Amino acid sequence: MKYKTITKCRICGGGDLKHVIDLGEQPLANNLLSNPEEQVDLYPLVLMQCQACSLLQLTAVVNPEEMFTNYPFRSGISQFWQEHCKKLAGDTAINGGKMVDIGSNDGTLLECYKKYGMEVLGVDPSNLANESNTKRLQTLKDYWSTEIADKYGFWDIITALNVMAHTDNLDEFAQAVNIGLKPNGKCIIEVPYAANMIKNLQFDAIYHEHLSYFTVEPLRELSAKWGLFIAEIEMVETHGGSLRIILTKTPPCPLEKVVFIAPEINSNDLSNLESRIKDHYEQLITVLQELSPFASLLYCGYGASAKAATFFNSKQCPDELKQGLKFIVDDNADKQHRYISGVNSKIHSIDIFAKQPEWMPIVIFSWNIAESLVKKLREDLGYKNPIIYKGENGDWIVKQ
Ligand SMILES: [Zn+2]
Repeated sequence: MKYKTITKCRICGGGDLKHVIDLGEQPLANNLLSNPEEQVDLYPLVLMQCQACSLLQLTAVVNPEEMFTNYPFRSGISQFWQEHCKKLAGDTAINGGKMVDIGSNDGTLLECYKKYGMEVLGVDPSNLANESNTKRLQTLKDYWSTEIADKYGFWDIITALNVMAHTDNLDEFAQAVNIGLKPNGKCIIEVPYAANMIKNLQFDAIYHEHLSYFTVEPLRELSAKWGLFIAEIEMVETHGGSLRIILTKTPPCPLEKVVFIAPEINSNDLSNLESRIKDHYEQLITVLQELSPFASLLYCGYGASAKAATFFNSKQCPDELKQGLKFIVDDNADKQHRYISGVNSKIHSIDIFAKQPEWMPIVIFSWNIAESLVKKLREDLGYKNPIIYKGENGDWIVKQ
């Protein structure tokens, strides 16, 4: 079975799932091709919202074997991510303590905690687990489970950064945290904040790997179900605004500390999502037309991310935008010389700019790291053409 369709909420089991947006049948966003003509499987990309606990979730759950065995995203590649991990470890590490990182990827976060004298363990089902093992960061090539928590716990710190969105069985996830955490331990979770995603039109963060899109309430419901408490909540900058939540096995004191004042999802923004997405594409065409000295659209992209795949494969994306894209640049060597499914433009290294003397605006698809990419293009590369990326409320920002 390549995918299953859910009819009940992943957290509360409620059956009242309301349609939010249909982005059409799409290929897997991280499945890069060596030949653009290659035939790939398509899966429905439809977002629903549980009317009981408010969790946003996809209807289709693609078999994880299809998605995570050859995972091309390497977390250590981004300078921004490395800094984020260093800071988190610096703020929370306990010298001589034990920690486990769920979804440890290439071991970037493990390495940071190890430097602070912690005994570290990674858990990651992808081939990147082998890579972190070669760096002497013990990593289980597996999915996080109650068996792992039983066998390898207790931990002072459990981290799960950008993992819960990928997790189908959230009950087992939370139960395993409860089993593996020391009585006074902390579980640090980071998830992209769905209220920001809806408000800022980050619909291209919707792809098959991300099964759920979180706000505070569904997380509170899940935690309570498995004897965990939300002890702290804060916003961090990753992925266009993420929630960092610290879970404990004992109730926080005082409870008021965890009152969260950021806005939850605006219902108008949710019901108008389809028309806002269509406007968003049309606005990009207008921006490119106004900038261009040519009759037809011509531009290149930066960031062959899963976001770019959703951006181009959504049924709302006009053909004109697909045809006008000349090539995409990505700093990850594993992605270069390949193609995003459904997009005929090749992925190159940044060196291509040195060979491209002609006029060419850049659209940054990795909007979550847009500012650092703008700096790199302008200061390191001396790139003079316009740079365009998505800003607050989904408006296109143009740097001339
Ligand atoms: Zn629910």
